[in-house]
Amino acid sequence: MPKQQKYVYFFGGKKADGKAEMKGLLGGKGANLAEMVNIGLPVPAGFTITTEVCTYFYDHNNKYPKELSAQVKTALQRVEKQMGAKFGDPENPLLVSVRSGARASMPGMMDTILNLGLNDQTVEGIIKKTNNPRFAYDSYRRFVQMYGDVVLGLKPQDKKAEDPFEVILERKKDQHGFKLDTELSTEHLMELVEEFKAAIKKETGHDFPTDPMEQLWGAIGAVFGSWMNDRAIVYRRLNNIPAAWGTAVNVQSMVFGNMGEDSGTGVAFTRDPAAGENVFYGEYLFNAQGEDVVAGTRTPLPIAKLKEDDLKIYRQLDDIRKTLETHYKDMMDIEFTIQQGTLWMLQCRVGKRTGFAAIKMAVDMVKEKLISREEAILRIEPNQLNQLLRPIFDLNEKRKAIDEGKLIAKGLNAGPGAASGRIALNAQDAEDMAARGESVILVRIETSPEDIKGMNASEGILTARGGMTSHAALVARQMGKVCVAGCGSLRINYKDGTIGVEGKENLHLKEGDFISIDGTTGEVIAGKLETRPSEVLQVLLTKTLDAQDSPVYQTYASLMKWADNLRRLNIRTNADQPDQAANAVAFGAEGIGLCRTEHMFFGGDRIMSVRKMIVAETTDERKSALNELLPLQREDFFGIFKEMKGLPVTIRTLDPPLHEFLPHEEKEIRELADQLNISIEKLTRKIHSLAEFNPMLGFRGCRLGVVFPEITEMQARAIFEAAYDAVEQGYKVKPEIMIPLVGDLNEFRLQEKIVRKAADDVAKERGKKISYLVGTMIELPRACVTADEIAQGAEFFSFGTNDLTQTTFGFSRDDAGKFLPLYVQNEILPNDPFEVLDLNGVGQLVKMGTEKGRSTRENLKVGICGEHGGEPGSVEFCHRIGLNYVSCSPFRVPIARLAAARAVVHEMSHKSKKSSRSKKSTTKKKK
Ligand code: PEP
Ligand code: MG
Repeated sequence: MPKQQKYVYFFGGKKADGKAEMKGLLGGKGANLAEMVNIGLPVPAGFTITTEVCTYFYDHNNKYPKELSAQVKTALQRVEKQMGAKFGDPENPLLVSVRSGARASMPGMMDTILNLGLNDQTVEGIIKKTNNPRFAYDSYRRFVQMYGDVVLGLKPQDKKAEDPFEVILERKKDQHGFKLDTELSTEHLMELVEEFKAAIKKETGHDFPTDPMEQLWGAIGAVFGSWMNDRAIVYRRLNNIPAAWGTAVNVQSMVFGNMGEDSGTGVAFTRDPAAGENVFYGEYLFNAQGEDVVAGTRTPLPIAKLKEDDLKIYRQLDDIRKTLETHYKDMMDIEFTIQQGTLWMLQCRVGKRTGFAAIKMAVDMVKEKLISREEAILRIEPNQLNQLLRPIFDLNEKRKAIDEGKLIAKGLNAGPGAASGRIALNAQDAEDMAARGESVILVRIETSPEDIKGMNASEGILTARGGMTSHAALVARQMGKVCVAGCGSLRINYKDGTIGVEGKENLHLKEGDFISIDGTTGEVIAGKLETRPSEVLQVLLTKTLDAQDSPVYQTYASLMKWADNLRRLNIRTNADQPDQAANAVAFGAEGIGLCRTEHMFFGGDRIMSVRKMIVAETTDERKSALNELLPLQREDFFGIFKEMKGLPVTIRTLDPPLHEFLPHEEKEIRELADQLNISIEKLTRKIHSLAEFNPMLGFRGCRLGVVFPEITEMQARAIFEAAYDAVEQGYKVKPEIMIPLVGDLNEFRLQEKIVRKAADDVAKERGKKISYLVGTMIELPRACVTADEIAQGAEFFSFGTNDLTQTTFGFSRDDAGKFLPLYVQNEILPNDPFEVLDLNGVGQLVKMGTEKGRSTRENLKVGICGEHGGEPGSVEFCHRIGLNYVSCSPFRVPIARLAAARAVVHEMSHKSKKSSRSKKSTTKKKK
């Protein structure tokens, strides 16, 4: 008989069926529960139903594989044996939790059921076991409530509606004049169970199932079903998690943190997830269930306090912390429960962290010899560096605001950085305001998974309730948002749209007002505050902070040094101004990969000469306008050469369609005609003659220089004169002149000839020679296909992947915004190809162009300078296909440096896997 496929993996006791490496099959939670069992930590027994069942479920109209039922039964028996209790037994009942667990963590996005197995009989068994009827009925009413909501669908129907179970609960408390749930007696809880069941029957038509096995299958189905709920879908889209991964379902014996004062529950990180410090970091509550800690309904105590409350448990937890870090070699996020003095681990996973913390921990762990430099580099998502490079408040401004009494409250510093914006009190408003271009701070009593889109649209998030591990704090950190959580003195009134502050009776803020939050200190300040560069920026750019005084900068610098030692790809920058060039060099740029000369046309009085050049009727007129431009361009280029001190500088000749430089409003046209001393009619005629149906495919790029060679001539002369001026003042220069939008070698040749003549002329005038290169941008599919021919002339290639994406897809760069978001939303395309390089299409053209170019010119220098040059995945691709450099905007240079180093580490691990595979196969053959 063929071996049956295994769909259910048991864990518990000393040995589990699964292990940490099996995340794809068991989900993160299931794999780590198994691993904790295997390393000897106390884990309540349970089993994991694999993600393959989820995929099967969706492929087969919500049905399960036929083997599943028997495998669940067997696993359940093993759990019963391990825990010494029986599922559904009225004397000694086993209760279980049923939770989701995807390969990547999706906090709070899917459904969970606790206390499953309770009914009117088993509740009596729990009473006998615990001698605590109130606890038993409280668990029962929580179970009916959760099951009724998640499995049977009795829940609020819109964002304004109240939770039907909470309505019943509040009514009960009101009837008896109670404020807190804890004031309810056993009898009240018994009544609530019945009232909840009756409400379920009335509103949904379903009887609450009494058979524990039926409850179990209902819960399993609901958890698999929640993989496709709206918020899980949105979360997956925001986090690039494929729908095909599916979720696993974990069924685990319940342990109770709410069995009295010797019980409790908590969540913790093995290091501080916000600042990265190597301290035990967490929160707990006595006599509570896990949801009480994360939901933020009670404010938990810091883990350090557990030392005073229960030293034995604290020590045991602290040992577990060390065991986990040594085993996983990473910062772990754990959930634990203490049941009547016994500690149980309910979850562990690699902890989410701020970019700040990620970098600090990775660098510290190298220094602690826990991980290698290469591992450290892989730990940090290059975009996390943004958090280090993010603004902070101007200290003086902030101090002034505080002196003026604008510090209204203080909460937990849940997500570092500084944010200022207008108050939105619900997620939808936050989205709408952000869509109107406003900076938004989302202020909520607490957030829930429904709010993620609004959180994503906001600059910062402020909540009144909840700790460092609340939903708001976790999700904000993951999104890299500034966040102040648990700011308990805020009195948020959704109905009136106002915020008051306890103890400050005269203070009222309302929706739309400005508010500022400091996610590093937890301060909340009324009004708008200007922000200042991050510490790294203060050391590198403004030079207002000494490197020695900034541990943050030192950590950044160590990491960047390791990255630079590894990477082979050079990182250049796209810069058009000396100050941009200076910033980029401070961030580690090794040259300019693209200087868009047209950007200089808008500086000073240049635009007037540019316009004269455009409206010129004759070559002489045009030349005279160009003569005005020449010294201005020379000055620009000189500034850049000076700043770059001998690093290569690629300067592109004029590219955009000329109409971009002319006015289109009637009033402006009138003014310009006046300034140019020509008639309005003449100017209007000129403007019309330059209008194009498809300007991006029209009279632009090298075509301008082909029709008006004198423009290229002026620009080339300005470049060389500037280069010689710089050399004469003692600077080194490496000019590289780049011709845009070439589709045929002949176009290139025409422009090259002009450039070389200008170079020769200036060399003769100055009586010496400097070396330079003439190359081209590759931005058209035809240029990729004929790259071998183009390389006969071009001394370097730089792929303009913005235009190459446009021309490959046939998507207009300027108009694609109308439909591309929908393409991404509906997964027609995995990403916006203008943001992330389309590896299968555009990427293949880049690869082909590079290979063809190098088939003609073996050492052809090749780079890219489209926006993809600073996007980590695209940078890695450029490394893989052997480009020499990527060029990106100055602030993305550190990101590209790290991405390029990661590409090398990935390559190394790929090679070592390959060689170990081939070794294995040779050993096998020998046998
Ligand atoms: C490009 O097309 O990728 C490019 C860098 O040029 P521009 O964006 O200026 O067209
Ligand atoms: Mg271009």
